[in-house]
Amino acid sequence: MTNSAPKPPSIREILRAYDLDPKKSLGQNFLTDSAYLDRIVETADLTPQDAVLEVGPGLGALTARLADRAGHVVAVELDDRLIPVLRGMFGTREHVEIVHGDILALDPGAFMGSFYKVVANLPYYITNAVVRHLLEASPPPSLAVVMVQEEVAERICAEPGDMSILSVSVQFYAEPSIAFRVPASAFYPRPNVDSAVLRLESRLHPAVASVDGTAPAVDVKRFFTIVRVGFSQKRKQLRNSLSGGLHLPKETVGAALRAAGIEPSRRAQTLSLFEWARLYRALEHET
Ligand code: SAM
Repeated sequence: MTNSAPKPPSIREILRAYDLDPKKSLGQNFLTDSAYLDRIVETADLTPQDAVLEVGPGLGALTARLADRAGHVVAVELDDRLIPVLRGMFGTREHVEIVHGDILALDPGAFMGSFYKVVANLPYYITNAVVRHLLEASPPPSLAVVMVQEEVAERICAEPGDMSILSVSVQFYAEPSIAFRVPASAFYPRPNVDSAVLRLESRLHPAVASVDGTAPAVDVKRFFTIVRVGFSQKRKQLRNSLSGGLHLPKETVGAALRAAGIEPSRRAQTLSLFEWARLYRALEHET
C-alpha cells in the first residue's frame, strides 16, 4: 500500500528551518528541480510491488517521490544531522525505512531481499565505489537508476576504442545506458560539473558466463587480473602487456589472443566486453 503525502517543502526552506549547511565533504548537492526528480523516478518504472533502496536521501526530495510509487523504500543516509529531518518527514509512512549508516559498510543484498531496485542521486566523491558495491552485492539490484557526474556516466557506457577498467567492470555486471543529462543549475548548491542519470540493468549472469549460455563458472578475480594487466600499459600492444604482466611467453599470449579472435597487436581500450570474455576463456589454463 502506498499513501500520498502533501508536497514537501523546498530544500532551502528545510535547510533554513533546521539551521543546516550542505556538507561538501559528503557530496551534498541537492537536486531541487522537480521535473528532473520526476524523470528519475519515471526511469525506474516503479510499481507498488517494488522494493527500492535509496543511497543518500539527503533532505528527502527523491525519497518522497519513491514513497509515492514503490511498496517499500529503504533510504540509507550517512549524515546524522539529516536523520531527524528524514524521520520527521517519513515517520508516518510505514513503508519507508530511514537507515542511518554508510552504504559501503552495509550489505544491500542482505537487507533488501531477493528483488529490489536502487534509485539514487549519488554522492560523487564515492560514485565508483558505490556502483561497484551495488553491482557486486548478492543479489544485486535488478535495476539501478543513479545520478552520477556526466563524465563518469560516459566512461561507464564507453564502447570499444574508449574502454577502461571502469567500463569493463560495470559492463561485466550490468548493461549501462544514459537515460538523460542534468545541468548543474538543477542542484543546490550548484556543483562544478554537469550530471547524467545512468540506467544499469543487471545481467542475469555475468557476461563472461553467458557467452555460450553453458560456460562454466567465472573466476571473477582472475578475469579482472587479466583486464587490469591488459590496461596497465595502455600504449602497449596486448601481446606485450599481457605476457609481461601475466609472466607468460609472448607466443602463448599471442596464440590465446588469436584463439579469442583478437589481433595480438591491438590495445586494451579497443576490446569489447565480449572480447575480454573470450580472452579470459582462451587464457583459462595459462594463468
Ligand atoms: N537524494 C538527495 C537529492 O537528490 O537531493 C541528496 C543527494 S546528495 C548528492 C548525496 C547524499 O548522500 C547526501 O545526503 C549525503 O549526505 C549522502 N551520503 C554521502 N556519503 C554517504 C554514504 N557513504 N552512505 C550513505 N549516504 C551518503
